[in-house]
Amino acid sequence: MPSVIIDKNHCKGCELCVKACPQQILQMSKTIGVKGYFYAELFDSSRCIGCKLCAVTCPDVAIEVVTHGTSFVLYDY
Ligand code: SF4
Ligand code: SF4
Repeated sequence: MPSVIIDKNHCKGCELCVKACPQQILQMSKTIGVKGYFYAELFDSSRCIGCKLCAVTCPDVAIEVVTHGTSFVLYDY
């Protein structure tokens, strides 16, 4: 299963990753981080497909996705 590591102290709460996730398993926290923003958090890791769209979308590089060899191709171009 992929691991999604979100650095909540680096997150600026822009919500871009929440919108980018095709599985809709990211949400904003109810508490604020050290920067004073609500931060992104993963609420259902079992549904993560390791696509890394959240990590690529984050303008502050606050998300790391480790796929352990289980990433999936979402789109055929
Ligand atoms: S890796 Fe893909 S499915 Fe998993 S949380 Fe990020 S955007 Fe969502
Ligand atoms: S895209 Fe990055 S900075 Fe924006 S909410 Fe997600 S983790 Fe935070």
